Amino acid sequence: MLGTQVAPWYRFKVGEFEATVVSDGPLAIGGPAEAFSGAPKEQLERDLAENFLSPDSVVLEQNALVVNTGRQLVLFDTGLGGLKLFGPTTGRLLANLKLAGIEPSQIDAVVLTHAHADHCFALIGETGQPNFPNARVYLAQADFDFWTDEAKASGALKPFVDGARANLLPLRDRTTFVADGKEVVPGVTALSAPGHTVGHTIYRVDSGRESVMFTGDISHHHVLLLKRPKLEFVYDTDPQLAARSRMRVLDMLATDRIAFVSYHFPFPGLGHVAKAGEGYVWHPSPVKTLL
Ligand SMILES: [Zn+2]
Repeated sequence: MLGTQVAPWYRFKVGEFEATVVSDGPLAIGGPAEAFSGAPKEQLERDLAENFLSPDSVVLEQNALVVNTGRQLVLFDTGLGGLKLFGPTTGRLLANLKLAGIEPSQIDAVVLTHAHADHCFALIGETGQPNFPNARVYLAQADFDFWTDEAKASGALKPFVDGARANLLPLRDRTTFVADGKEVVPGVTALSAPGHTVGHTIYRVDSGRESVMFTGDISHHHVLLLKRPKLEFVYDTDPQLAARSRMRVLDMLATDRIAFVSYHFPFPGLGHVAKAGEGYVWHPSPVKTLL
């Protein structure tokens, strides 16, 4: 028994760009009815079982994305960093970047879909130093303002606001706010998709005639939220707006046949969606053993 696993990173091309999915490690979020609402518990469990998944425990992956445009090295989302609120399997991004041949100091831009723990809490290290010392940070101002608001640091939101303040405020003078439809860095365009958080943003990466979308948390689960896009997720700030954004983005991805990396889908999270009944079905891209 070797007890070892495949590399926690996966590389693919987008036109002239080189893209690498890098895992922060799996994230267990409990039973489906604890995380998702809007359908009976039995139905959620049956959806999982019919797709050969455990009906008792939902495990999300964390697929961060690095894109080398030839001019810049861009990291999309950072994983949980030192926060162990979701167990010991997370917080692996920095180690896994190195396994993929990427030094954190080489990252020029950290582009965030939103300011939740699992997407930005590795900006600052345990001793207060920036983990990406040469990077600018890009995110929507609405998320920056919401999650660094000290007045919200109470109750269930407290660890998330405290962590966002610890990770975002020290980098404020290196932060640029993104805007819907505007270029972030050459080859990367921001697209507003609010609801999961007030400023949740997805990104289109274009090189030549090829594109890939980084869809962040537009859908947390490759079965439940695709089959039933109107479901609500426990960490949605505005669940109904999140569902509307989800349906709009999924419709675009399916209609225009756009490849995308989904942050929480099964590793490496690269694939397409197609319409199926009232919802969608995910078609993971075949994993290539040669670039
Ligand atoms: Zn997330």
